[in-house]
Amino acid sequence: MTLGQILVEVTLASGEKGIGVGGGGKSGVHVIDTVLKECLLGTDRDTPHQLHRVMCDHTSFYGRKGLVPMAISGVDLAIWDAYGKSVGKSVYELLTDVPPPTVLPMYQTVFDDAEAELAVKDGKQAVKLHVERFGDRPKPEVIGELVRSTRMRLGEGKAIMLDAFGRWNVDTTLAVAHEINQYDVEWIEEPVRPDQLEDYATLNRESPIPIAGGEHEYLEEGFLALAASKAVSVFQPDINWCGGLTSLIHIYRIAEDAGIRVVPHRGSEPYSLPAIAALDREQPLAESARSWFDCINGMAEVTPAGVELLLSPGFGVSLKP
Ligand SMILES: [Mg+2]
Repeated sequence: MTLGQILVEVTLASGEKGIGVGGGGKSGVHVIDTVLKECLLGTDRDTPHQLHRVMCDHTSFYGRKGLVPMAISGVDLAIWDAYGKSVGKSVYELLTDVPPPTVLPMYQTVFDDAEAELAVKDGKQAVKLHVERFGDRPKPEVIGELVRSTRMRLGEGKAIMLDAFGRWNVDTTLAVAHEINQYDVEWIEEPVRPDQLEDYATLNRESPIPIAGGEHEYLEEGFLALAASKAVSVFQPDINWCGGLTSLIHIYRIAEDAGIRVVPHRGSEPYSLPAIAALDREQPLAESARSWFDCINGMAEVTPAGVELLLSPGFGVSLKP
C-alpha cells in the first residue's frame, strides 16, 4: 500500500535544498501548502528537532495520527536532507561518531515458500511471509503448512516472520501462533488493526511468538502509548509516515527504554537506512524496498552481503529528472 507518497522540497535560508518523501497524497500536499509551510516560514527556530516541534505543536489539535504526521514526515526528511547537505555530512554522520558499517543485513517480504528460498539464496538474512491473501479468518493449518514448507526450504538459521496486515482477531492469531510455534518464527506482524491496543496487549502477553507492529502508528506519543500498554515486542515505524527522522529518533529511544526491538518498515530505502545503521548496534535489520518507491535517485545497492550504506551528504537523494 503506497498511502499516497508525496515528494517535498525545502530551501534553507542559505539556499541549500533538501528532498523528503512523505505520505497522504493530495491531502498531504494540501496540509503542507496550507499549514506547515506557513508555520515554518514564520518561525525563528532553525534545527531539524526544533522545526519538527513547531510543526507538531501547530497541528496537535487535529493532526496527531495519519494524514498530518505523514505530511510532516516529508517536510522533516527534506529538512534533515538540506541540513546534512549544508554541513557536508551524511545523515549517518549527523547521528553518530561511530565508524559506519559497510553493509546491513536485510530481510525480504515474500508471498510464498519459493520466493522465500530465492530471497535467502540472494543473501537475505530473513524472510517475511505476507499472508493477507488467506483472508480474515484463515485456517491455522493452512498458514501452518506455508510456514512448514518455508522452514523446510530455508533450513535452520534464517528467520521467518509473518505479516497479517491487520486482518485477524485475537483467537485467530493465537491459534495460528500455536500452530506455527514449532517452526521458530521470529514475529507475527500487525495481527489486528492498529487501534486495537488491548488486543495487541493480550496477544503480546499470550502469544508464544513475539508480536510486531507500528507500521501505522505515529509520532513519539503514539509509540509511547504502544510501549506503555506493552502492545508489541517489535516496533516497525515507517520513516515516511510516522513523523520523519525526528520521530524515528524518539522511537528508538522509547524502544531502548522499554526493551523493544526496532525494525523499520521498508528499512533499506534511503531515508531509514542511516538511522538503522546509526541507532541499532545490537540487531540491525533492513526490510527490502518497495517497488513503488521510485520517485527519487539514491536507492542503496543490494549485494549478497547486505544493503550498502551510502555516506553522501544528507540522505544522498536527488530528484529524478
Ligand atoms: Mg507490514
